[in-house]
This record gives sequence, C-alpha cells and structure tokens, in this order.
Amino acid sequence: MGHGIVQVVLDTPLDSCFDYLWPAALQAECGAPQPGQVVQVEFGRREIAGLIISSSTHSSYALEKLKPVLAVRAQVPPLGPQWLDMCRFAAAYYQRPLGEVALPALPKNLRAGKALALDKALKKLAKPQANDASPHGAPALNAEQAEASQAILAAQGFAPFLLYGVTGSGKTEVYLQTAAALLARQPEAQVLILVPEINLTPQFEANIRARFPGLALATLHSELAEGERLRNWLAAHLGQARILLGTRMSLLASLPQLALIIIDEEHDPSYKQQEGLRYSARDLAVWRARQLQIPVVLGSATPSLESWQHAQNGRYRLLRLRQRASHAARLPQVGVIDLSRDRAQEGFSGALIAAIRRRLERGEQSLLFLNRRGYAPVLCCEACGWISGCLRCTAHMVLHKPEHRLRCHHCSLELAIPRHCPTCGNIDLQALGRGTQRIEEVLQRIFPEARVLRIDADSTRRKGSAQAAFASVHSGEVDILVGTQMVAKGHDFKRLSLVGILNPDTALFSHDYRASERLFAQLMQVAGRAGRADLGEGSVSEVLLQSRYPQHPLYSALMAHDYEKFAAQLLEERAQACMPPYSYQALLRAEARELQSALDFLQQARSLLPAPGVEILDPIPMTVTRVAHVERAQMLLEAQRRSDLQAFLTPWMTALRGLKSRVKWGLEVDPMDV
Ligand code: ADP
Ligand code: ZN
Ligand code: ZN
Repeated sequence: MGHGIVQVVLDTPLDSCFDYLWPAALQAECGAPQPGQVVQVEFGRREIAGLIISSSTHSSYALEKLKPVLAVRAQVPPLGPQWLDMCRFAAAYYQRPLGEVALPALPKNLRAGKALALDKALKKLAKPQANDASPHGAPALNAEQAEASQAILAAQGFAPFLLYGVTGSGKTEVYLQTAAALLARQPEAQVLILVPEINLTPQFEANIRARFPGLALATLHSELAEGERLRNWLAAHLGQARILLGTRMSLLASLPQLALIIIDEEHDPSYKQQEGLRYSARDLAVWRARQLQIPVVLGSATPSLESWQHAQNGRYRLLRLRQRASHAARLPQVGVIDLSRDRAQEGFSGALIAAIRRRLERGEQSLLFLNRRGYAPVLCCEACGWISGCLRCTAHMVLHKPEHRLRCHHCSLELAIPRHCPTCGNIDLQALGRGTQRIEEVLQRIFPEARVLRIDADSTRRKGSAQAAFASVHSGEVDILVGTQMVAKGHDFKRLSLVGILNPDTALFSHDYRASERLFAQLMQVAGRAGRADLGEGSVSEVLLQSRYPQHPLYSALMAHDYEKFAAQLLEERAQACMPPYSYQALLRAEARELQSALDFLQQARSLLPAPGVEILDPIPMTVTRVAHVERAQMLLEAQRRSDLQAFLTPWMTALRGLKSRVKWGLEVDPMDV
C-alpha cells in the first residue's frame, strides 16, 4: 500500500489545495481520511485549519517534502458533499479561492481546534433535542395565506416562490405555519429562515419559541459569542436543529436535512456581503434550493427587481397577500408635504409638527425617519469658507455633538470639535444640515414633555443596547422615536400611528441607478411601521413625507401603495438602458496611493484578454475617491448573457493574478453599488 495522501484546502489567498500526508497514527486512531473532515496542518510556519476534499495514493510532489496532517477533528462528522459543492459553486461564481469560501463559513472555535470548547458544545448537544412542531396560539390563516402555504407545501422538487405581500399582510405567519406543517410531516427535516437585520433575530426568535415551545431552534448571526456560535452551528450540522434562524451568514451553514429555505425581506441589501467574498445570500439560497431540489420562499412587500422580473416571466411562482392580516390593522394614508409651500423650520414643516402633537395628545407614538446619523453632516466657517473635510478621505467629517467629536464615517477618524476656525480663527462655526442627533434635540425643544428616543448605530454601540431600546418602544415608554434605517425594518410597534419621513429627496437624484429602487423599498418599509393595530375611535394612521418634489412619480406610487406600477416603470427603464436585470455586471476595483496607478492598473486589465460578449467600460475614480489616504478607482463589466461574463471572468482572474501588480484589487460579481 502506498502512502495516504490527502488534498486539503486552506484559507489562503492562493487558489490551490495542498497535499499532505495522512500519517499511520491518524489512520490507526481515526481510520481513513474522509472528504469534509476538518484538519489541522502546518502551513508556512503556522498551524492552521484545513478541509479535506479528497484523498489519493499519489502526489505530484516528492513524498519526503510533504508534511503530515497534525490532527483531525474526528468528533465532528465530515461536512457533506452537497455543502462542499455549494462552496465550490460560490468560489467559482464569485471568483474566489475555495478555501476563502469554505473555511470562514466554519465557526472559529472549530477551526481553531479548541478541543475543550468542542467537547463542551457536543456534550450539551448530546442531550435529546425537543422535536415537537405543534404550534401554540397560532391564528387561523386567512384565505390568501392558506393558499400560499399550501402551494409551498405541495411543491415537488426545486420550487422558487415569491411571497409578495404588503407590510403587515402576515408573511411571517405564512413562514411559521408552513415550516410547522412541513416539520410535522417530515420530522427529520430542517428549515432555514434568513432575516436581513441582526436586530430582528431576537424578535423573530421569541416569536418562534413562543409558537413552537417544543421545537429545537438555533440562531446564527455575528453577535453570538464564539461558544454559542459553535454550539448552534453544530446543532445545525448534526441535524438536531429543526429551524435555523439567522442573518446572511447562516446560508453557508451545514444543514444536512435542509428541506425549505425562507428569505424574509428578500430585497434587503444586507443579504449582499460587502467585503471579502462578496456573495448574495439570496442568490445562493436559490442555487442551494435547486441543488437540493427543495422549495425556497422569497418574501417581500417590495421585491427586488430581479425577483419581480422572475415572477413576471414565470421562473418564480408569485404568491400574493393583498391585505393586512389583522382586522385591526389598515394601511396608513400616505401624504406628501410640499416644502415649497410649508417651509420647514429646523427640519420640520408645520403640518408634521401638528401631526406629532395630535399623536402626543392621544398617547400614540410617532416615528421620525432620517437616514443620516450624527448631528450635522458638516461643520463650516461662514467667514472664510472652511469646511470640516476629513484629512484622510475625500469626505466631510460629521459633527457628533453628544460625543463632542468630528467623525469621518468612511475612515473612522475622530477629532475634537474645533473651538474656532482652523484657518481664520472665527469662533462662530456653523453646523450645516441635520442628522438624527439634531432632530432629537429639536424635537425635545419643541415638545419638552415628550419622551424622545433616538435609535441609530451611534446610540446602540453597546451590545444589547439596541434590544433594550426597541423594548422600551414596545412597552410604551417612548412617545417619539427618531431613527435611521435601523428602525425601518420589521418591528411591529403597536402604538405607532405616525411616520414622518424628513428628507428623502437626496436619493432621488443619485447617480446610482439602483437608488430609486432602494429608496422606494425603504420608504414602503418604514411607512409599514404605522397602523399595525387598532388604536380606537378617532385614531388615524398616516405617513407624512416632506419633499420639494411632491409630484415625483416615486412619491405618487408610494401614496397609492402601488409597488407594481412603480416596479413596471423601473423595469421598463432598465430594459431600455440594458441594465440589470436585463444585463449582468461585474466590477473590478483598484486601490493605490496614487489615483493614476489605480487607473493605469484598470486600463491594463481592460486590454489583457479579448472579451467576447462583454463590454468593459472606462475606468473611473470611485465617488468617494480617497479613503484613509488610499485612492480608489473602478471599472464596470457588462454582458447580455451571464454565461459570457462567467466565461470571461475565470481566465481573466488568472491573468490578473499573473500581473503581480502592487495595486490592490478585487472583483465583485453582481455588484450592488456601482
Ligand atoms: P408581515 O410579515 O407581512 O409584515 P406579520 O406576519 O408581521 O406581517 O403580521 C402582521 C400582524 O398580523 C401580526 O401582528 C400578526 O400576528 C397578525 N396576523 C398575521 N396573520 C394573521 C391572521 N391570519 N389572523 C390574524 N392576525 C394575523
Ligand atoms: Zn474661517
Ligand atoms: Zn476619513
């Protein structure tokens, strides 16, 4: 018998897998190597984790040069071939090495070989897990909900569904009852539920636990402590967790009995990872469902144009929920306040102030939405024209008043607020524009009795503080809530009857062609926070939007709650301009100390290989060109056919790596921000 050789993938930037020896001692202790086993190996001078993908008796390297596998995590069953195939697909599609996909998808404590942590987690899981999917206190589904649920349960093989229903139409209820019915039918099955926002997992989790007290549920998201993350990941991998609930990352979990995938708010940008492996969890979910021949449900009140188009052309089956589910709930009236008539003072029109006052008198809650944190986006000197530019970026430093700081939101540089103008000495510096902190201050001044709470990334920096803040809104300790997109999603605030949208206009004229799709979704979603319960006689649920362009079609569609018309318009525009979903894109980014080096690199990349069926556009500087002293440029690739793009990218990547340029570069397939 020859030597046992194993092929191991490692999380290294090199696109290769490495041969190691399978030593006799391991063979004696753990038997033959198996694909999907996590092992410990020496690489360079470090010991790192790897994943066996195959074994053989020959190596193209000299045997005496091969190093032995140091250890194998034999307590954990190997990752399955389907999971490995998903990683292979993602690696190939997003043009990354396999190791960079597969290894980071594993919990840190498993990779690090923390034997103690591993044994502890496994011991906990050795106890029998609850497995009773009978629901407690579930409302009877209405006709549309029942129809949707039955359609999903009746599906055979791969079946993608778009569950399109207004906010509050009871999509969550459909997810839960469908999952329950499936688990009652197939007790060994697993259901994966993805949610966009980490802040929504506790609410969702509490819902599921209350509903299915007898069911093994695990969660995965980035705020879990490592011990818990390992345990929950193992619960999924061992097939014990019946439902796995989590954010984007949970799509890459190992779920050997996966039978249904549900993606809530499928249009949400957070399903796209914005660094490293820039994957779309939604797109991969559909791929995974096809691979496993199972149903996948994409739910949204404002589907992404990609999904909507698939539903229009029949690739996805459309399931509609037309009304709010609870009898008490009605869709709020949406009104636009014309700022050219009703001039805003300190950000508030008279009509909006009056509307807030009415809510205060009735003991109802108001939500003021502004997608800009900090006190003011820029500090300036009117005497000499100085503005608070970041020293390291082509961006302004944002005034953060409670923290007494100027902060750059791009590079995190922080400075004390200057007492006088750095160039002319003027002591009267002006804060220009408004962020959530300033809105909070203004509201507190206008309504001194009201309990005002701000929820944004700054106010919720401490772990657990976001949950505490949301809890105080739910329990009625807050009269006026001020927040960014953090408050827009998913929360079911029962006493909320007014949503004020302060300054949405800026996004109307963005150069990013996806901006209006995103703005519409965001406004629909924040509008959906109002009118979720019956607040008694005389209560009116409304959404008031302040704008200088009250006639804009986006706002008209919003007033009519007409996503479909708006989507049809946008799709038409995209078709004419040949933009996604009517074309496929990739973006090559380059970073260097000198902008010219970055641009030169892209230019060189452009002419490296012939690109049949692919148009490569001019390299351009990114909108925020310099971040932390690094100049950034990008180049867009477009193709009418996905296959043309993919056929070009693979050899192109190899050629680019071969350039050994000192410019740092990265490729994004299906970019969201271009
Ligand atoms: P969505 O996820 O579509 O925004 P939810 O599932 O959160 O909507 O439902 C909104 C509200 O309606 C919740 O309070 C939920 O309990 C209630 N609800 C959902 N389905 C029903 C039903 N069939 N009967 C009564 N109430 C329902
Ligand atoms: Zn000055
Ligand atoms: Zn900066």
